[in-house]
Amino acid sequence: MGKAVRVRCCRSCGHTNLVPVLDLGRTPLADRLAAPEDPPEADRTEPLAVVICSDCGLVQLTVTVPPDDLFGQGYPYYSSVSPALRAHFASTATALAGRYGLQRHARVVEIASNDGAMLRHLAARGLAVLGIDPSPGPASVARDVGVPTLDAYFDAALARRLVEEGWSADLIYAANVLAHVPDPGDFVTGVAQLLAPGGRAVFEVGYLGDLVGGLAFDMIYHQHLCYFSLTSLEALLIRYGLRILDVERLTTQGGSLRVHAGSDGAPSEAVAALRIEERRCGLVGGPVLARFAAAVHTLRDRLNALLAKLIADGASIAAYGAAAKATTLLAYCGIDDRTIAFVADLNPHKWGRRLGGSRLPIVPPARLVEAMPSHVLLLAWNFAEEILAQQAEYRRRGGRFIVPLPVPRVIGLDA
Ligand code: ZN
Repeated sequence: MGKAVRVRCCRSCGHTNLVPVLDLGRTPLADRLAAPEDPPEADRTEPLAVVICSDCGLVQLTVTVPPDDLFGQGYPYYSSVSPALRAHFASTATALAGRYGLQRHARVVEIASNDGAMLRHLAARGLAVLGIDPSPGPASVARDVGVPTLDAYFDAALARRLVEEGWSADLIYAANVLAHVPDPGDFVTGVAQLLAPGGRAVFEVGYLGDLVGGLAFDMIYHQHLCYFSLTSLEALLIRYGLRILDVERLTTQGGSLRVHAGSDGAPSEAVAALRIEERRCGLVGGPVLARFAAAVHTLRDRLNALLAKLIADGASIAAYGAAAKATTLLAYCGIDDRTIAFVADLNPHKWGRRLGGSRLPIVPPARLVEAMPSHVLLLAWNFAEEILAQQAEYRRRGGRFIVPLPVPRVIGLDA
């Protein structure tokens, strides 16, 4: 276990004008699931607070927990476990192959390729694919389905090594990883180096505008070091040799940006329009972030009041979704196994373990119908549609879901 490092300079531009935005207190490390026999004091906590750089606008955490403590052995996240994510990556493969006219033997590198959820579709089309991922479990699943995968963190040094070995990429895809790296400038430098002339890099990042607009404060956890607007992402890419050519808004991860970048070409109208929109609505250089912090405090009070009222009325409460965001929400709101009996999750790698901090035991989703708690707190609200459909039987029998964000509410069968 390494020590968390306090950040004094902006991770993107290096300046020191970092202004506090929101402090969520000390929270357990997300995704470090405990064994039932581990004592509660074994759950490691670290400060969880975000600041904004007043020079480049990048919103970021105040500490960096060593990546090996977050993503190493035992990292329980497998992209292919969720049907919604499987569908997302299959359609992403089709969209990227179509947009860039990727033919057989085109070279595609994916950074943080996890279990090959996207690349397996391109490998099946005969493209020359390479996955890069530091988590041994998911990387080994990827190799089993025919996706060559390096167990490694991507950085500029690895990019240079790959270039020396003769690799260059027509397309680099990096989804949900740029926000995880302690030195994003080095990462972008590596991407620029590894691109073939005329090649394109596609990044997907959680979008600050959606996080703030949806009060999705639980997307803030130690793995997510940066929270990008288009404006701050563009400043980062330009500084290290890439320009944004196009941008799409996605609904994945509670709201994401997909940007298409390269070292040549001109930005699309969509890029200019979103840039202007961020200024107009005050996400950049406006009071939006100050209001966000106050609204998050109010949300916590409302959720706790709702749970207290339900329990006073005789409710029994379980939860759904032992995802990283659950750790933040439960810790910040002070909700634990005194309020909630268990948390259901689709990922069998998590069953039998407990969430750090709250100590909720993690069980298969079938347990909801067996135990019939009167209410289920929907911690994985970003998969609401999928979960409500999967739990049709629980709902038919009278079970209700509590959606915590952006305003806590109870939904029954009619939703
Ligand atoms: Zn900065």
